[in-house]
Amino acid sequence: MKNRITELFNIQYPIIQAGMIWNSGWRLATAVSNSGGLGLLGAGSMYPEILREHIQKCKKATDKPFGVNVPMLYPDIEKIIDIIIEEGVKIVFTSAGNPKTYTSKLKAKGITVVHVVSSVKFALKAQEAGVDAIVAEGFEAGGHNGREETTTFTLIPMVKEQLDIPLIAAGGIATGRGMLAAMVLGADGVQVGSRFVASEEASSHSAFKQMVIDAKEGDTQLTLKELAPVRMLKNKFFESVMQLYTTGPTKEDLINHLGRARAKKGMFEGDLEEGELEIGQIAGLIHDIKPAAQILNDMIEEFQIAKKEVANF
Ligand code: NDP
Repeated sequence: MKNRITELFNIQYPIIQAGMIWNSGWRLATAVSNSGGLGLLGAGSMYPEILREHIQKCKKATDKPFGVNVPMLYPDIEKIIDIIIEEGVKIVFTSAGNPKTYTSKLKAKGITVVHVVSSVKFALKAQEAGVDAIVAEGFEAGGHNGREETTTFTLIPMVKEQLDIPLIAAGGIATGRGMLAAMVLGADGVQVGSRFVASEEASSHSAFKQMVIDAKEGDTQLTLKELAPVRMLKNKFFESVMQLYTTGPTKEDLINHLGRARAKKGMFEGDLEEGELEIGQIAGLIHDIKPAAQILNDMIEEFQIAKKEVANF
């Protein structure tokens, strides 16, 4: 396949594996990159020197392009940016913050910069900041999410109407049919998160992966909007947050209740009761754990079949 996204990243298929905390280490990123997509490391759950280690492992495990996702609300961002530059990473996806903060610095080093947004307003801001492409992520997505609750089906055509730069759709896309739908709506490529959580190479705990593939429609919900909106599985911790809401909590009450390292506890250590289990709505359509290469190949095959079917309409 050849389009603006495959050319921008020099990859075979316009499929990007999301850089998810506690899931996206070097094994997953290189499995995706070696299969023709773009693999991303999730820097949000890595101390700076751990990120350096993962970048170096990526460089050894693939000669294909790979990138790093940097969520700006996480600590040590300055150090993370410096390591990315020192290690010669060529592609950076920034998220959860202002695209103006690092875009010029990274681009001055020859790095391709993509910013993740959840609304048309932020997409325009990112374009103005000079990014090379945008990920527009709908409310279906897992983890940190937009406040506006705009769904992917609504967001993509609205962003497309106002922007000229390459557009990557995210949120609710786990299949070739989903990919085709997003591209018909105006996307040049897709970013896929939840489907790659249920991969053999994802670094998350096997109990979390199992819970993802067991999840049904309606098993996730967005909450904690007063802090940073986050979509998670409805487990014991989620129910305790719902209970707290009935008491009219202050922001501080919510922060105290969240405590520290809930995401690590749930997704990495496999504490399915007390941990924060971030996953998208599309988990209801994911029924098996597969090698990342197979996920990618299955998506492309289904995309081609669906494209032929649509041509017969
Ligand atoms: P926490 O802030 O609760 O804890 C930090 C986690 O990240 C720990 O598990 C820690 O690992 C790991 N970590 C990785 N790199 C670093 C680093 N450079 N410095 C410190 N810790 C690091 O993590 P969350 O993922 O829950 O939240 C991350 C950010 O998002 C925070 O800034 C938080 O305030 C914000 N936020 C999160 C919400 C959520 O629902 N998760 C909601 C609202 C805001 P280790 O345990 O090994 O030290």
